[in-house]
Amino acid sequence: MPGLFAGTSLERPVTCEVCQQPLDVCRCPRNREGRVVQPRQQTAAIRLEKRGKGKIVTLISGLDPVATSLPELLKKLKSSCGAGGAIADDAIQVQGDQREKVANQLRSMGYQVRVNVQR
Ligand SMILES: [Zn+2]
Repeated sequence: MPGLFAGTSLERPVTCEVCQQPLDVCRCPRNREGRVVQPRQQTAAIRLEKRGKGKIVTLISGLDPVATSLPELLKKLKSSCGAGGAIADDAIQVQGDQREKVANQLRSMGYQVRVNVQR
């Protein structure tokens, strides 16, 4: 957390335990507790969910909502899938069956992915 130890005199600058950068430079994703949570330490669960009137959405859950910017991820997924989407309850919904595109996009960003193949 940047500035956490500001004002204390330490011989070594406080650095991130992961990237070894000073904390005010470090851009590692962190969770609510301030611990670094890299994409590879997060598993996205991807499954289909039926909505009313035969509509289907692809639901992506399981990502840390603090370490991962869900609005930013939604934007990327909407453009790579060419579909609309929304965020609800720390999960991302993309319209239609987009499991493959979503899984590919998340993998390319370094996330672990678990796809539920059932319809
Ligand atoms: Zn770092």
